[in-house]
Amino acid sequence: MTLDERLEHVAVVGAGGKMGSGIVTLLALEMAKLRGRVENRSKCYRLHCIDLSDQALDGLRRYVKAQATKAAEKSIVLLRQLYADRADLVENYDVIAEFTDTVLSLLRPSTELSVARGAHLVFEAVVEDKTTKVQLLSELNHLCPPSTFFLTNTSSIPISLLDREANLGGRIIGYHFYNPPMVQKLVEVIAPQAAVPELVQLGRELGERLGKKLFFANDVAGFIGNGHFSRDGLHACREAQRLAKDYTLAGGMYLVNKVSQDLLVRPMGIFQLIDYVGVDVFYFLLKVMNEHIAGEDLHSDLIDRFYELKLLGGQWPDGSQKDGILKYDRGRPVGIYDLDKQQYLMFDPNGWTGELDHALGPYPASHRPWKALLALPDKDKQLRLYFQELFASDTLGARLAQAYLRRSKEIGEKLIADGVANSVEDVNGVLTNGFYHLYGPINDFV
Ligand code: NAD
Repeated sequence: MTLDERLEHVAVVGAGGKMGSGIVTLLALEMAKLRGRVENRSKCYRLHCIDLSDQALDGLRRYVKAQATKAAEKSIVLLRQLYADRADLVENYDVIAEFTDTVLSLLRPSTELSVARGAHLVFEAVVEDKTTKVQLLSELNHLCPPSTFFLTNTSSIPISLLDREANLGGRIIGYHFYNPPMVQKLVEVIAPQAAVPELVQLGRELGERLGKKLFFANDVAGFIGNGHFSRDGLHACREAQRLAKDYTLAGGMYLVNKVSQDLLVRPMGIFQLIDYVGVDVFYFLLKVMNEHIAGEDLHSDLIDRFYELKLLGGQWPDGSQKDGILKYDRGRPVGIYDLDKQQYLMFDPNGWTGELDHALGPYPASHRPWKALLALPDKDKQLRLYFQELFASDTLGARLAQAYLRRSKEIGEKLIADGVANSVEDVNGVLTNGFYHLYGPINDFV
């Protein structure tokens, strides 16, 4: 069966979630383009959007509509070609409305898994819990024909384990979109040895069709992106706890968050990133990796405490950031949760955070924030200069940043040594594309 044929009948499970809603939108746009072709207009295209939560499915329709309108506006030239024979579509807004209506007409929301019966492709994006995923995939395996292919968005669970326990006979690959799938170009593909070659090929073709950049990772819990992110986050937690002796726990967390953003020149600090991904997602990530990776302590009691207090971050349905480890105002961190006092401490540049900023010491003269460097044509040269100065500096901030960069490099190198990644390019590619770092962790600055 070709990719085009498979795209006639698709199911996404967990469709109302952060990742599921993005995957639904990407697929619906692609399916609507196929459906718009003259030769396909009599065919029936179906995209089953399955979720336990009715409320999440209500929000999904609104999200897809807004995204489809935006996408149609951007690709108006292509859509005009697609509908070239439609004399009734005169103005651009007619074309946009027609395309958006087609996208929405494909969606079949349901809380019943049984509607996936007969789907040629199933995307799974439910909660990061092995038992739930195995149970779902087993049920789907009974419902769907033996030709159905499964693509799971798991962040960490080994694919061969899902394959074995759900008895899928190699008809599953990891197809790990990054958050948000509509924006992020990276997809990490995990194709275990037993994966059916036609499915692996389909994964490649689909990536190209969706305009994604694919990186292949081996089937080890956490894969490349989260293999690095989890250990990077653990380093941050441990550093913050070590700093707590001198600066309090909230102070230590503030310092590490600031250093990981400013002095590592990253788009956001590590605790903000954990909030963005979701503290619960990070918690489950560590749990799964700890279960599957021997000889390494991949656990943080700090994360456990935030998880137990339900300070989980993540996003509201309108995309705005929820409070988690940090407190936010219009997307910007304005405070940090103090686990000792059980309340948020608001940042105060004239008070406690001002004192901590002072304790970090001056930044190297060539320091520029991530956004400023991103726009520079010679950013690699500027970064090299900056890191030379950083490594020659002996302030508290520089020492914390140097240790962080060394650890990040060590993690990257270990991913290759452990056979998770095949090359330095793959490790650096995933971190630069998926996490918007300006430089890969394995570099000669460090
Ligand atoms: P989420 O909690 O936002 O969404 C999960 C959705 O699945 C929810 O709408 C929930 O109602 C639904 N669901 C749960 N159990 C279900 C079931 N049995 N049947 C049908 N629907 C069910 O989670 P998310 O962040 O979108 O994560 C989904 C998957 O994607 C996880 O495996 C996660 O590890 C992975 N992932 C997450 C991110 C991220 O940044 N959040 C990035 C990449 C991959």
